[in-house]
Amino acid sequence: MSGGAARAEAAGGTVLRTEGLVKAFGDHVVLDGIDVAVGRHEVVVLIGASGSGKSTLLRAINLLEPIDDGRIWLDDEDISDPRVDADRVRARIGVVFQQFNLFPHLSVLDNVTLAARRVHRTSKAEAEASGLRLLERVGLADRARSYPDRLSGGQQQRVAIVRAIATNPELLLLDEITSALDPQLVGEVLDLVAELKEQGSTILMTTHEMHFAEHAADRVVFLKDGRIAEAGPPEQVLRDPQHPDTRAFLSRLR
Ligand code: ADP
Ligand code: MG
Repeated sequence: MSGGAARAEAAGGTVLRTEGLVKAFGDHVVLDGIDVAVGRHEVVVLIGASGSGKSTLLRAINLLEPIDDGRIWLDDEDISDPRVDADRVRARIGVVFQQFNLFPHLSVLDNVTLAARRVHRTSKAEAEASGLRLLERVGLADRARSYPDRLSGGQQQRVAIVRAIATNPELLLLDEITSALDPQLVGEVLDLVAELKEQGSTILMTTHEMHFAEHAADRVVFLKDGRIAEAGPPEQVLRDPQHPDTRAFLSRLR
């Protein structure tokens, strides 16, 4: 193999893969055999009704939810192996949830640099220089010394995204990151996600913003009662859904 081909192969590949993932709360089976894969630089959007298992799936992948069966691979590592160090795995995954989860007692810059300094042992000066560069990129450098409660919800979510990417994670998990925002603030957050995609981030996310999914997703996965009812490119799943449950779900949104 030529050097170029070897590099191309190393750059591609599958970042995340789940196989037969099962999760139950008591006798309520919430994930019922989920096989999902996210390739490098791919954006995969999970859709489905409330309660279909989207958040549980993201939490399971981030090892916040013990699974009952199946496997999860991050790159080539089986992270569902119980002997795996969950903190070490989580350090390779960036996560943003619906509710603003910035630390209220820390400045924007300290929020952004905390993980780099604590988990990755980057020096304060280095972490702050790179944190400021990232904040600059998203137009929030002038808020570096502000506290989260001085920011709009949209700005807070952009900071949360910056914090999630500050450690160069291999995978980003975004769970309804615009659902708690006023409608006029949704765009600035989704624009940032689209920009991350352009820059090559690998993203698994849930959203109810179908317009965004249609434009930014490489693949859309429709979950129904803990199973994948339909998956494919957005123009297929969203424009020409084959499964009656997908059709019913989409028509309720319109
Ligand atoms: P979604 O994100 O698609 O709305 P969730 O993954 O949050 O769905 O929830 C899927 C199902 O699992 C729901 O019925 C929810 O009530 C249930 N569930 C989620 N977390 C827990 C928990 N910690 N204990 C019991 N049931 C839970
Ligand atoms: Mg959810």
